[in-house]
Amino acid sequence: MTSPTPACALCGLPTRFRTILGCYPLCRCEACDLEFIHPIPPQELLARVYAHGYFQGTGERGYCDYFGVERERAARKGAAWLDRIQSHGGRGGRLLDLGCAAGYFLEAALARGFDPYGVEPSGDARGKVSSALAGRVFPDVSAVRDKAPFDVITAWDVLEHLADPLAAVRALAPLLRPGGLFAAVVPVQTNLNARLWPASWDQYKPPEHLWFFSPRSLSRLLCEALGAREVASWDEWSRPGRLLLERPAPALLHRLDRALFAPLRLLRPRWLVDSSGVLVRRA
Ligand SMILES: [Zn+2]
Repeated sequence: MTSPTPACALCGLPTRFRTILGCYPLCRCEACDLEFIHPIPPQELLARVYAHGYFQGTGERGYCDYFGVERERAARKGAAWLDRIQSHGGRGGRLLDLGCAAGYFLEAALARGFDPYGVEPSGDARGKVSSALAGRVFPDVSAVRDKAPFDVITAWDVLEHLADPLAAVRALAPLLRPGGLFAAVVPVQTNLNARLWPASWDQYKPPEHLWFFSPRSLSRLLCEALGAREVASWDEWSRPGRLLLERPAPALLHRLDRALFAPLRLLRPRWLVDSSGVLVRRA
């Protein structure tokens, strides 16, 4: 790559070119484990990614059937996220979910006594929000400013999609009350797939995903942007039963892959984790 790599958005130190994902150069900051596509593609291209069909399997990218088969899984995940928030004192109050899609998490929050609001730029997804959430989901953050301060703000599988996640979280900081909780889940590139064989990690998928965190860099971003401290972190999901193979391969390679996977699961679970969450509390 001939163009210079930019300074790290988090720590300001020089970054290095790591690899090309498709036609997108990936840069990495060794000091804080942060990786990102550079340059960030233009807004018109990003808008096309989330155009009609992103949630229904008919777009260029996105979910197979978010409003159908994914709904139950989304509800299950939402219940687990609420358990975490509530175990750290988030018991009711006003909640904002950034990138709330069809509002499944907001429905679960409403059922548990929160006063929930959501921001979702996709008109497709907003059109699927249930009537129980009428008047609670808006296309952008500016529309929910008058609902602040929020006791809890969440961003589930969202920050990796944004052109500038640091700026997005900084913009939310004034909306979170002192002592309020902010929770986020992102894919994490600390697993063996991402570290050893980037082409085998299915979460390296620009221009849908643009930023690639470790648990440490996610925590640092949230703490610095919000003036917060970490109160919890967790592993969200790991690929089951295989190590490096993502695509079809000869049976012998699959057997070898499974054989390598088993001892690694006992030795270093971190090597197998694909997604992690962090919960921080604003000072
Ligand atoms: Zn850095």
